[in-house]
Amino acid sequence: MRPVIAISSRIAQDLDWAPPLIGTRQAYVEAILAAGGAPMIVPIIDDLEALRRLYDVVDGVLLPGGEDIDPRHFAEAPHPQLGSVSPERDEVELQLARWAVAEGKPILAICRGIQVLNVALGGTLYQHLPAQLDSTIGHDRGGHSEDWITLVHPLIITPDSRLARLIGTCELQVNSLHHQAIKDLAPGLRVVGTAPDGVIEAVESTNGAFLLGLQCHPEMLWKDHDTRWRQVFRGFVEAASASRSSR
Ligand code: MN
Repeated sequence: MRPVIAISSRIAQDLDWAPPLIGTRQAYVEAILAAGGAPMIVPIIDDLEALRRLYDVVDGVLLPGGEDIDPRHFAEAPHPQLGSVSPERDEVELQLARWAVAEGKPILAICRGIQVLNVALGGTLYQHLPAQLDSTIGHDRGGHSEDWITLVHPLIITPDSRLARLIGTCELQVNSLHHQAIKDLAPGLRVVGTAPDGVIEAVESTNGAFLLGLQCHPEMLWKDHDTRWRQVFRGFVEAASASRSSR
């Protein structure tokens, strides 16, 4: 039976005269489907009991990209260049991350997701990299559609890591569409990938549970641009499948 993968969502407005939508970018859904999972979009709801019911149904949790995280979650005042935040989404994803980490349910956290994971476990973030870190790498290449697939900088991967085993290399070029990043690493996480300027770009768990946080956007690369990323989505879905059969 195919494992069910929760993909958390965002609230968006498509028409100014219509009520808001809840959804996620199709690329995440396609990546999970292609890897053998059954994707399920989790709405942004302010109902802990209902959220827990949904969480209990799924075999793995994918935390996708999106807005900035409200810095109050790591006890900082907003930086002047903090982007838009979504307090409702923060609550849902921080909760999903904490539950999944506590139970060892497989997690794949992408872009905002790696940041959510770090904050959920007690870490902090750079709120705006260009102002807070001296680097020659432009990590934020958003704003133009082609930049989703532009390979911006190397990702240097720790040889003894799940990521290195799955992707089969210790260095590859990645896309980069972020202006926030992990600052202080949370307990329970281990850095397994960095950019040449030292920015943390990949984390795993310290306890062996399948937990993979990635600052880049592999959901935009696996199909055409770097098929090695297929193995990462497949590894996640397989771990979700194994966690399902062990429950
Ligand atoms: Mn980057």
